[in-house]
Amino acid sequence: MTQSSPISAPSPRRCTRLVRIGQVAVGAGAPVVVQSMTNTDTADVLGTAMQVAELARAGSEMVRITVNNEEAARAVPHIRDRLLALNMDVPLVGDFHYNGHTLLSKHPACAEALAKLRINPGNVGAGSKRDPQFAAIVEIACKYDKPVRIGVNWGSLDQSVLARIMDENATRAEPRDAGAVMREALVVSALESAAKAEEYGLAGDRIILSAKVSSVQDLIAVYRDLAVRCDYPLHLGLTEAGMGSKGIVGSTAALAVLLQEGIGDTIRISLTPEPGGSRTQEVVVAQEILQTMGLRAFTPMVTACPGCGRTTSTFFQELASGIQNYVREQMPTWRDQYDGVENMTLAVMGCVVNGPGESKHANIGISLPGTGETPAAPVFVDGQKTVTLRGDNIAAEFKAIVDDYVATRYTRKAG
Ligand code: SF4
Repeated sequence: MTQSSPISAPSPRRCTRLVRIGQVAVGAGAPVVVQSMTNTDTADVLGTAMQVAELARAGSEMVRITVNNEEAARAVPHIRDRLLALNMDVPLVGDFHYNGHTLLSKHPACAEALAKLRINPGNVGAGSKRDPQFAAIVEIACKYDKPVRIGVNWGSLDQSVLARIMDENATRAEPRDAGAVMREALVVSALESAAKAEEYGLAGDRIILSAKVSSVQDLIAVYRDLAVRCDYPLHLGLTEAGMGSKGIVGSTAALAVLLQEGIGDTIRISLTPEPGGSRTQEVVVAQEILQTMGLRAFTPMVTACPGCGRTTSTFFQELASGIQNYVREQMPTWRDQYDGVENMTLAVMGCVVNGPGESKHANIGISLPGTGETPAAPVFVDGQKTVTLRGDNIAAEFKAIVDDYVATRYTRKAG
């Protein structure tokens, strides 16, 4: 009646370095951390603070904000202060491209307010400016004791590294194909940048690496290689995953393979929101990937059958969706009051074929009547049939059973 543990990969990766970002631990076997990123103008202090708060309430354990100009850099400490006034101490990650060295030197309060810096070696500066500008950011990170994510992206890959790897490839007896060369350049760019950061004084346990691409197979190959070649915690994400089901499926396909192999210490799902859609969807998807894989538990999960010709009523779909929404809405309160409630499992099933069986495997399950079946819905609690619901009030009565289960089966937290 509880969720199965994940089946281990033959030789799962074991990252031994632990990076502390505010109160959040990343790597060394710590639970995989969920991250997200705002899409507000960071200079808009109120709008950005509100979106960070929304993402944090949804479960984002770190939130990245772009710091792209002077106004944004000036806004960062005010955003942090507004969040603290809301009693939200979620770590803020500053995303820097092109001018990070200038912004961080001119705005020390910005550097101080951020919990982590993200720099992209491909966008830190060109030619002779690259190394000094990279060194300047690392020096600031050391001065303010901030961890750094060195985040390589194939859309902004360091061209000097790519050119060097291409030249080396041309001299090989059996040159590799263009895809393999690009993947090697991504990995080399991340590893060489990390080595340089350590050379400039950043401790090894203040570095996280990422190397994002938008193709599932390339992402899996790049991270497997990175995992073998370093011991830094890795941030995973399929970059530019896209919108809706395409973005969710692509991200899940890539991340599930890697997470199963123990690769990935933090994740972000780079979904393009639907017009008018909530930014928090990327947090929900990240949590559901980790929870359905049995790696973490965030909120009670509802198992529901897909429905078929044996249940023609829409009532079953409405009940499944209503219960999932209900437990998600209740979870902030339940989490504050009860230990372990996030592990609860629920089942809403459409007919007698699999209904009683699946319901018995959940903590609480209901098997609704299919077409032509007796209009009765047996409820199972911890595998035992406890009551049969009938009539027009089944949804409300089932929610009351869930509330009662939470109140009686989970230990109330002190205070
Ligand atoms: S449990 Fe019943 S309604 Fe649901 S998919 Fe199976 S046969 Fe169809």
